[in-house]
Amino acid sequence: MRVGVLALQGGVAEHREALHRLSVETTQVRRPADLAGLDGIVLPGGESTVIDKLARTFGLAEPLRAAIAAGLPTLATCAGLIYLACRVRGAAPGQQTLGVLDITVRRNAFGTQLDSFETLLSVDGVADPVPATFIRAPVITELGPGVRAVARLDESRVVGVRQGAVTGYSFHPEESTDLRVHRAWIDSWAASGELAS
Ligand code: GLN
Repeated sequence: MRVGVLALQGGVAEHREALHRLSVETTQVRRPADLAGLDGIVLPGGESTVIDKLARTFGLAEPLRAAIAAGLPTLATCAGLIYLACRVRGAAPGQQTLGVLDITVRRNAFGTQLDSFETLLSVDGVADPVPATFIRAPVITELGPGVRAVARLDESRVVGVRQGAVTGYSFHPEESTDLRVHRAWIDSWAASGELAS
């Protein structure tokens, strides 16, 4: 099993580390050729405007969009989630996204006071609450018909979604040493028993 980590900007090392601790091999994805032969891909958090610009500069945006649209299992966190969204509120001028996840996200939804915070969060597919770090995080404000909420901060704020083979979270599971969110993602598509326990 080999998982690509989009390595243009942001929390690349943290996601690779989490996957390596689960005995999953990773490849850094910067060029279209890096997409070949992947079993899944992770889009880290960081800054969605920078990820967008670099992906277009490297000619990666369209092949990446096509691979995800074709069903490549995908885990996106924070800026990675924004980068997948069909609709972005508070987008920077000229900011583009891959438009493969039928949601509306509001960027920097927690304002300056709550710029960053950590909480325990229930996530579908994980037995007990997980530590979730929010850093200038987005909130998902609208879900298209094929999209399911898989994590909520409260009644009105969705912070995790699933659409087909795409899972996206507003927070950063890779900031904690708790591997259950990455494991649940892998388990959702990999043949059982492939991972070392
Ligand atoms: N606010 C950032 C953006 O809009 C996302 C922050 C993050 O990924 N931690 O891209």
